[in-house]
Amino acid sequence: MITYLFLGLFLLMMAYLVYFQVFCSEDFINSPYNKRQEAFGEHVVRGEIRSADGVTLAQTLVGEDGTEVRNYPYGAMFAHVVGYDVNGRSGIESFANFNLLRSHAFFLEQVLNGIQEEKNPGDHVITTLDYKLQETAYRTLGDSNGAVIAMEPSTGKILAMVSKPDFNPNTIAADWDGIVSDEANSVLLNRVTQGLYPPGSTFKIFTTLEYMRENPQSEDYSYECTGTFAGEEADIHCAGGSVHGRENLIESFANSCNTSYANIGLGLDKSSFSGLCKSLLFDTDLPIQYPTARSRFVLNEASTEFQTMQTAFGQGETLMTPLHMALITSAIANDGALMRPYVIDHTENYKGITVKNYRPSAYGVLLNQQECQKMQEMMRAVVTDGTGHGVYLGNFQAYGKTGSAEFSNTKGETHAWFTGYAVNEEQQKTIQVTVVVEGGGSGGQTAIPIAKALFDAYFN
Ligand SMILES: [Zn+2]
Repeated sequence: MITYLFLGLFLLMMAYLVYFQVFCSEDFINSPYNKRQEAFGEHVVRGEIRSADGVTLAQTLVGEDGTEVRNYPYGAMFAHVVGYDVNGRSGIESFANFNLLRSHAFFLEQVLNGIQEEKNPGDHVITTLDYKLQETAYRTLGDSNGAVIAMEPSTGKILAMVSKPDFNPNTIAADWDGIVSDEANSVLLNRVTQGLYPPGSTFKIFTTLEYMRENPQSEDYSYECTGTFAGEEADIHCAGGSVHGRENLIESFANSCNTSYANIGLGLDKSSFSGLCKSLLFDTDLPIQYPTARSRFVLNEASTEFQTMQTAFGQGETLMTPLHMALITSAIANDGALMRPYVIDHTENYKGITVKNYRPSAYGVLLNQQECQKMQEMMRAVVTDGTGHGVYLGNFQAYGKTGSAEFSNTKGETHAWFTGYAVNEEQQKTIQVTVVVEGGGSGGQTAIPIAKALFDAYFN
């Protein structure tokens, strides 16, 4: 028996080694924790990172004496998404490190380079990023801090990703001490994937979905908004002292009526609501190669009436990353199916011959088709008749939800949100955009112009 036991263990070990060699070794070598990657740099000139439309975003300049400098032609514009390659690494520079340090130059050329003691040219990484969209997002966010992400819902391709405050990757080594000691601004933080913000009224998407699940006859919903909802602990008011009058569910959503949503929130089953949020990626690691923060949803039987009402319209203790909101919006635009977001389209050797293609992959179905249709109808009403009218005009059909999220109770300051998407049937293209402007006031005022600029840039 012992003989057979050892024989069995031995065979298992063999099988694992073969499996590792065939399926895992590339991932293992590619791990940013693998220090042996650095050795590749002694024989290879790091490849370029380019946008989908062929613009060079990172390159290595080699001086006459052989010194190498990593150069980023657009400076801070692509800082967080492309990353940096000194004092550690971040972004694409980090997770595509192995791709950039490999050379698929032709074999004879490599042999010749070896004899002449010259380095081989590394492979180039071609991203899904659209230069024009990134430039538009970066320019329109202006001096504000915040986050902008644009994706293609049908594939998960990331088209633009901007986080501010930013840094210049060309001078990051010299600026390093100042950057890391500036705790107030957290400059290195990628706010798209790691910024946790109260979602404000954009969260009404989740509350509406839960209401529809609990109430199949959601068309019958009716509420009389007087501008104030009297609570036991405190009153709830509609934004800007608005009084919306008699509303159904779509009108409540389009008007972003807080009192109507406080009313809806009090009728919801808390544990069912928590379950829905969990299934929609709260308290979950998001499927992306960038470091992420987990969004937080807090509502349980111990929550007070006031907390419950606040949670229903996105205040309270709920916190979300812009990426999370972008993924849910993408799933709605894509009839419920969420595609994994990705930023590397393919790698190629220095002569432009493709080495590896990265294909879209499905994460899963988050919502059923009926839910998506209703949600799409509501997000359309926001644009045609509600707070999102600023993205109405253009050669596209836009859908979305605005938000103004209070973050300091004392001063009444708010972060401006917009999350939505736009479709052009003729071009058969759809783009999803999520914007957060820190301290930007109302979403309609500061976040919508950024989304509008991206929609215009994408379809023109
Ligand atoms: Zn109202």
